[in-house]
Amino acid sequence: MSHVFPRHTHRLPPRAVRGQGCYIFDETGKAYLDASGGAAVSCLGHSDPDVIAAVQNQVAQLAFAHTGFFTSGPSEDLADLLIANAPGSLDRVYFVSGGSEAVEAAIKLARQYHLERGDPGRRRLIARRQSYHGNTLGALAAGGNQWRRQPFEPLLIEVSHIAPCYEYVLREAGESAEDYGLRAAQELEDEILRLGPGNVMAFIAEPVGGATIGAVPPVPGYFRRIREICDRYGVLLILDEVMCGMGRTGHLFACEAEGVAPDILCIAKGLGAGYQPIGAMLCSKEIYSAIEEGSGFFQHGHTYLGHPVATAAGLAVLRKLLDADLAARSARMGERLSLALRDTFGQHPHVGDIRGRGLFIGMEFVADRERKSPFDPALGIAARLKAAAFDAGLVCYPMSGTRDGKLGDHVLLAPPFILEDRQIEEIIDKLARAIAAALG
Ligand code: PMP
Repeated sequence: MSHVFPRHTHRLPPRAVRGQGCYIFDETGKAYLDASGGAAVSCLGHSDPDVIAAVQNQVAQLAFAHTGFFTSGPSEDLADLLIANAPGSLDRVYFVSGGSEAVEAAIKLARQYHLERGDPGRRRLIARRQSYHGNTLGALAAGGNQWRRQPFEPLLIEVSHIAPCYEYVLREAGESAEDYGLRAAQELEDEILRLGPGNVMAFIAEPVGGATIGAVPPVPGYFRRIREICDRYGVLLILDEVMCGMGRTGHLFACEAEGVAPDILCIAKGLGAGYQPIGAMLCSKEIYSAIEEGSGFFQHGHTYLGHPVATAAGLAVLRKLLDADLAARSARMGERLSLALRDTFGQHPHVGDIRGRGLFIGMEFVADRERKSPFDPALGIAARLKAAAFDAGLVCYPMSGTRDGKLGDHVLLAPPFILEDRQIEEIIDKLARAIAAALG
C-alpha cells in the first residue's frame, strides 16, 4: 500500500516506470501509446535527450536561486526567446510553476494594472460558460464549468460567464457559423454594458477551447470581434493558452491563427513538455509600463517562480520546437490524424463531431447522430471510452457530458508532435477496439 493521495481513491492506476518517444511503460512492461500527451503536455514525447541534458546540466550547476535575490541565465534566455516569437506587443514574461498559477498571476496583474492607472472600480472578470482555467480558487472562479465550481461556491472573485464559441452545439437552425460567432461575441459587449465598463477588468478565454469542451476551434472572426470590444471599453484580453499553446494547434501560439494578440497570455503544459513543472504569463509593454511607472512592484509571487532548472527545461523545449519547426509538424500530422479519424469513424452512429487544430483533436460521442443529442451523463460514456482505450494500450483524455446538459461526451487526442504514420494507424486501431467495447 502506498501513502500517495490518488486522484480516485477507489481506482488506483498502474505504476508508470518509463517513457520513450510516444509511449509510456508500466511496471509490468505494458506499453501505452500516449495519444493525449498527458493532457496536451508531452509535445516532444518522452526521454528527449536534449531536454534531459539541459535539465541535468542545470541541476548540477545551479538548482535554485530565489528570485527575491537573483535572476538566472535560463530564465532570461527563455523570456527573450518567448518574446522574440510572441504576438503583438507582449513584452515581459513572468514564470510560474503551472497553468493555474499562470491564470492566477494574470487575474492579479489585470487588477493591479487598473489600480495603478487610478481605475479601482475595474474588478469584474468575464469568462465563458463551460470553460476551465485551472483548479486554484481564483482560476476556478474564472472557469465556467458548473460541476467543478459548485462544491466550492461562493468563490473568491465574482465572474460573469457568457456563451462559449461553440457553434456546433449552440448555433440555431438556419444560423451560419459566422453569425453564431458574432452573436456569441456580442454577449461580451452586452455584459460589459450591463455591468458598466468602469467595473470590468478583463475577459479571459482559450483561443481553441480544450479543457472540458474538447478542442473546439473558434468561428473565424470571433476573436477579432472580441478584441474590438475589449479595446472599445478598456477591458484587458487574457488568452489562456495553457493547453492549446506551444505549437499544439500548428502555430507556436494558437491566437496567431485568429490574427489577434492578447494583453496577457498564459502558457504552461507544452512549455515544460513534462520535463519540469513550469508555466508563464506574458504581458504587454503597456501593462508592464503601468507597473513600472506606478508602484514598481507586482504584488504577487511564489517561491519557485523562474526556477533555474524549470526554465532551463523550457528553454531546451522551445529551442527544439523552433529549430525543428515542430508546430508545422503538429499541423501536418494533425491533418493526417484527423483525416484518418474521419475516414474510419466519420459515419459511426455515435460519433457526432471530429474537430480541432493541429495535434489537438476532439471527438464527440452522441446518442443520436442526426440530432447530435448527448448521451445521458449517467452512462459515463467518456469514462468508459477512456477505460477501454487504456485496456487496449492507448491513453486518451476523456471529458464527460455533464455540463449544463448541452455538451456530449468527448475524448481529446493530443499526442506528441513526433508522432509518426504508423502510430496514427495504431491510434485508429486501438480507438476502434475501445469504441466497440465501450459503445457496443
Ligand atoms: N487552463 C487551461 C486551459 C487548462 O487546460 C489547464 C489544465 N488542464 C489549466 C489552465 C490549469 O493548468 P494546471 O493544471 O497546470 O494548473
